[in-house]
Amino acid sequence: MITRSPADLQRARQREAIPLAVTPDWQSQLARALRDPQALCKRLKLDPAWLPGAEAGHRLFEVRVPEAFLARMRPGDPHDPLLRQVLPLSEEARPMPGYVADPLEEAAHTPARGLIHKYAGRALLIASPACAVNCRYCFRRHFPYAENSPSRAQWERTLDHLRDDASIHEAILSGGDPLAASDRQLAWLVERLGAIPHLKRLRIHTRLPVVIPDRIDPALIDWLAATRLQKVVVLHVNHANEIDAAVIDACERLKRAGATLLNQSVLLRGVNDDIAALAELSERLFEAGVLPYYLHVLDPVAGAAHFDVSDREARELVAGLREGLPGFLVPKLVREIPGEASKTPL
Ligand code: SF4
Repeated sequence: MITRSPADLQRARQREAIPLAVTPDWQSQLARALRDPQALCKRLKLDPAWLPGAEAGHRLFEVRVPEAFLARMRPGDPHDPLLRQVLPLSEEARPMPGYVADPLEEAAHTPARGLIHKYAGRALLIASPACAVNCRYCFRRHFPYAENSPSRAQWERTLDHLRDDASIHEAILSGGDPLAASDRQLAWLVERLGAIPHLKRLRIHTRLPVVIPDRIDPALIDWLAATRLQKVVVLHVNHANEIDAAVIDACERLKRAGATLLNQSVLLRGVNDDIAALAELSERLFEAGVLPYYLHVLDPVAGAAHFDVSDREARELVAGLREGLPGFLVPKLVREIPGEASKTPL
C-alpha cells in the first residue's frame, strides 16, 4: 500500500481545489469546424460531380465551416446562398486579368507588425490570423498572416504607434476574425487600448457572432462591457438565411454590453445579387437590431472572379432597394480603391 506524506496530501487537496481549465464551448466548435471538401460535399448531400472542383479550390484556400453555419444550409442544393460562400470551385484556379493577391495594397500601409494604417483617424489591428469560416471571396485570402501575428512584446511596439499618434481616435480590431483570439488576449489588448487617452472608439469587424453565435459568451461580454471606449461591432452577413434565432440572441447580448451594431455585406453573384434577397437581408438585420451599413462590390482578389457583379447591375440593385425600403435600411454601395482616403461610393 502506498502511504502519502502530509505534504503530498496537502498538494493533492490543492490540486483538487483548482478547477481544470475548461475550453470554452465556442473554441470546441471552432476546433470541430469542417475542413475537408469531401466531408462538406457529403454533409450537404451534393452530387459527387462537385467534389473535384471542391478539392481543387481547397488546395488554394482551405475549406473551413463550423457546424452552426452548416446547419443553416439546405442539403442537396448546391446553389444554397450560404453554401455558395464556402464551397470551393475549380474556377478559383483560373487566372483572371486584374484579380490579384493583395487587391487593396495593404502591404504598403503596414507601419508595424499587425497594424494597417491607411485612413485618417483610425488604425486597424490584425488581432487574430484565424477565421471561423473561410469565405471564398475574402480579399485577405492570400494575406501573409504569419508576418503579421505579433507576440506580446511586438504588440507593445505596435501599440506605441497608436500611443504616439494623437490623430488616431478609433482602433479597429480585424483579422482574420479578431474574435477568434482568446478572451484573455482580447481583454489584455482592449485594456491597453482603453489606456490610450486619445482613443475614443473600439470597432470590431467580425463574422463569428454569425457563424458561431455561442462566441458571444459571458467571458467576452466581461471585457467588452468593461472598456471605457465606445463600442461598434460591424458584422458581416450576406444573406438573410444567415440570421437565425441564435444569431439574434448573440446580437442582443452585444447590445446589452453597450455595442452599436452595423453590418457590411459583399455583393456576390449567386448569393445576394437580386433585389428581393437584399431587401430581405436588410429587414432581417433590422429585426436583429443591426443597421445595414455597407454593401461592398467585390474586391478583385485572385480566385474570386466568379462572384463578380458589374457596377451597372450593382447600381440598379441598390436603386431597386431604395424604391422599396426606408432609407435607413439601404446600405451604402461602395468600392475600396487602394490609395483613396476612404471608401468610394458608387
Ligand atoms: S470571415 Fe472575413 S476575414 Fe475571414 S474569410 Fe470570411 S471574409 Fe475573410
